[in-house]
Amino acid sequence: MTVSTPPLATDAARAFLAPPPKKLWIGGDWVTPQGGYFTTSDPATGTPLAEVARATKADADAAVGAARAALSRPDWAGMTPAARGALLWRIADLIEQSADALAEVETLDQGKTLRTGRMGEIPGAIAQFRYYAGFATKIMGQTITPSITYQPAGKRVTAFTLREPVGVVAAIVPWNSPLLMAAMKLAPALAAGCTVVLKPAEETPLTVLMLADILQRAGLPAGVVNVLTGFGHDVGAALAEHADVAKVSFTGSTETGRLLLGAARGNLKKLTLELGGKSPAVVMADADLSLAVPGVARGIFGNCGQVCVAGSRVYVHRSIYDRFTDALVAQAQNLRLGHGLDPASDLGPLIHARHAAHVAGFVTDARASGAQVLTGGGVAPQGDAFFHPTVVSDVRPDMRLMREEVFGPVLAITPFDTVEDALSMANDTQYGLAASVWTENLSAAHRMAADIRAGTVWVNCHSYFSPELPKGGHGISGWGTENGPQGLENYLETKTVCMTI
Ligand code: ADP
Repeated sequence: MTVSTPPLATDAARAFLAPPPKKLWIGGDWVTPQGGYFTTSDPATGTPLAEVARATKADADAAVGAARAALSRPDWAGMTPAARGALLWRIADLIEQSADALAEVETLDQGKTLRTGRMGEIPGAIAQFRYYAGFATKIMGQTITPSITYQPAGKRVTAFTLREPVGVVAAIVPWNSPLLMAAMKLAPALAAGCTVVLKPAEETPLTVLMLADILQRAGLPAGVVNVLTGFGHDVGAALAEHADVAKVSFTGSTETGRLLLGAARGNLKKLTLELGGKSPAVVMADADLSLAVPGVARGIFGNCGQVCVAGSRVYVHRSIYDRFTDALVAQAQNLRLGHGLDPASDLGPLIHARHAAHVAGFVTDARASGAQVLTGGGVAPQGDAFFHPTVVSDVRPDMRLMREEVFGPVLAITPFDTVEDALSMANDTQYGLAASVWTENLSAAHRMAADIRAGTVWVNCHSYFSPELPKGGHGISGWGTENGPQGLENYLETKTVCMTI
């Protein structure tokens, strides 16, 4: 059995997907690429969706040139903070008006269910622009009285700081949540007054191109945001090395994050790196299982586990281990796989069949080393990119499945006896992105939250996001923090002005 594509509900999505091929958005114009076009396809069916520009290094030069010119042009550099805030709010309104079409195109291009996009990620993108709209008018320096004693007689020293946009930002985003990830970078960068070259992942270029049209309609001056579709190893690498790019804001794999460190060396670019994870969930003996079972299931199976914070290791107190495991396995088996546009589907496909094969490799290896597959474990009959929600027990700490990011719907489940054991297993990783703790005990919740090494610890929930909540990785999960006031800081520099008066 393979799935078929349900009809689209919005004319706007149909119109967007129609030919001609999608060009690059550079300097306020749709520009023909130097490198030709590539096809983006529906991962559920393999059906081609659209031809999309394949940007090259020459296109990167043009886009960075446009962004650099826009940085000091009066229509952007001279825009009042209030006008910048209003512009961000207008972008949010226009995304909201196009939410149905954006969600449909996101589902077609990425595979996720329409519900995930329409109810979660598109509202999340809107919230990003509204949150940072308010910050545009609240960027302030300080006045300082320095303790300098050697000024000329009769003079005084005074000083203040200016907050300035860091410059041209290359925003490189992954394929798991394309529009939301783009919004997480664009909104604070624009609030700070930066200009941006945005590169979506080659697997999912479409909604970011729709966003370019929205930015234009909102009245963003030409060149402030430029969109380069294309491949990481050529146009992504060209941006990462570009001497006129001041900052790279990246979300993606730890492996690519390491490459970016090297690429940033030339002009010592500033880097924000949101990388991978191997996030634990710890279920204490007193956990409310009516919350914990669906919560842990959502934490690993949501978006088919293609989420950086996916809770891919769960540690369960031995006294409730069997009960919890049975309930979790039942939840996994109840999830319906199908086309993301089909309202009956709980889970869509993975991003492509190659990724499904990659995910299967982890399970095969673990099984060969003695792990038990309690449910799932392989590619599903709906198609080569569909993967059964999978729960695996007896996964030893040294197995690849316990150590490496799978980025798929595969959960390793392990019992523990003492809180100390749970903590030490939870922290047995080089990653440090997120964790969840499930307990009704206030002291235990606080202690675990303090002692788990991770950028975010959720208690009695998992994968809760909001622009107000700072989000960053410890260890090899990244550098820097997005969202919250910290997210704005990524795009600002401090200049000190010291005066004898
Ligand atoms: P994944 O392995 O999940 O596809 P990647 O880290 O490869 O994640 O991709 C995330 C983003 O990084 C994508 O937009 C991709 O095109 C881009 N990318 C991949 N390789 C490079 C590179 N060498 N330099 C810059 N960007 C890259």
